[in-house]
Amino acid sequence: MDKRNHHGGTDHADLRDETLVIHADDGLANDGGIAPAIYYTATFRAQNAAEFADMAGTPRHPRYYTRYGNPVHERVKKIMAELEGTETALVTGSGMGAIATTLLALVSAGDHVIAQTRHYMSTAKIMDEMLPRFGVEVTLVEQADVSAFADAIRPNTKLIMVETPANPTLVVTDLAAVVSLARPRGIIVVADNTFASPINQRPHDLGVDVVVHSATKYLGGHHDLTAGVICTSEELAERIWHTHISLGSVLSPMDAWLLLRGLRTLPVRMDRINANALALAEFLEKQPQIERVYYPGLPSHPQHDLAKRQMRGFGAVIAFAIKGGYEETQRFVSTLKLSQNAVSLGGVDSLVVHTAAMWEGVMTEEQMRIAGIPSNFVRFSVGIEHIEDLKADVLQALRAV
Ligand SMILES: *Cc1c(COP(=O)(O)O)cnc(C)c1O
Repeated sequence: MDKRNHHGGTDHADLRDETLVIHADDGLANDGGIAPAIYYTATFRAQNAAEFADMAGTPRHPRYYTRYGNPVHERVKKIMAELEGTETALVTGSGMGAIATTLLALVSAGDHVIAQTRHYMSTAKIMDEMLPRFGVEVTLVEQADVSAFADAIRPNTKLIMVETPANPTLVVTDLAAVVSLARPRGIIVVADNTFASPINQRPHDLGVDVVVHSATKYLGGHHDLTAGVICTSEELAERIWHTHISLGSVLSPMDAWLLLRGLRTLPVRMDRINANALALAEFLEKQPQIERVYYPGLPSHPQHDLAKRQMRGFGAVIAFAIKGGYEETQRFVSTLKLSQNAVSLGGVDSLVVHTAAMWEGVMTEEQMRIAGIPSNFVRFSVGIEHIEDLKADVLQALRAV
């Protein structure tokens, strides 16, 4: 992988991602173990009154009280700040913990926020329901249209939230263009980088102020933990941290340790995932039972050029439409043997979701149509299995359609 320009406050400008995930946290206190210790404690002892005062009075202290910080958190934060090229990072108990904490820390009543018409469902709920309840106005814009962001800006616009690529059809937001609108006006840009991972996309390199992640996905990578990460400047991290300790989205030391373990293999997993997903997307596009494939790595994606410009790989998630309706699509999904029918993405196992079946309980058919969720839509998160086995499995399921 290319050596990249790690600006920001990073200490390892000379190291590549594969090395950073193993060594960026080397300098942090250790008792000699090659694998780091799990500090399974809620609280830490002070040696004397002066030290206690220092621990209590230092924001983001790593050894005072685990809601404030923990030595395992420090390691994850160090690696994530290096991977995203930001000065520092914070960790939270979930991706939504990272997103909600960031938004509630940075906006106040009377502020205006611009967000996308397509966001992760719980982020969309914050925009639609929660922020307005607290007197924050929100304008939703079509993310592929840069002029829609420009038109939405008002004198009180405080923050622009972007997410790219985004569900369900992997639409891409032009990060550099959004930053060029926000920067001169002092508007904070927050990017949900979950669908790309720092290996495939580094929003801070393009000027994004805060990069948030659901670490439940690629970063953990094994579908065994729930966590979130916020990568940003020292100044914004301190502001967000003060809200974080009040909202209390704390990452448990065990899950932080599992996340640390997951991060060690992130670059090698992403290499395999990117290659598998591109090969599977190309393969799907050739099958007669497939109506359409949505994947930013395919030349048929309407924003393929933009995706190539701002991403180095295109990630695990492929969306596609099966020729047929609900029944045919359901038959395809239930005939797959290797890919399991489950939500989430970015782990070692391939997962598949029949989108309409997922929303059936909460949305009417009409609502699904408006939300752009046709009955024949499938979301596939490609794992690290052998590509020929994945293709064979998809082929036998398509024949059952
Ligand atoms: C999963 C996800 C989230 C939420 O993360 P959790 O860890 O489940 O709280 C937010 N944004 C995106 C894009 C996601 O995929």
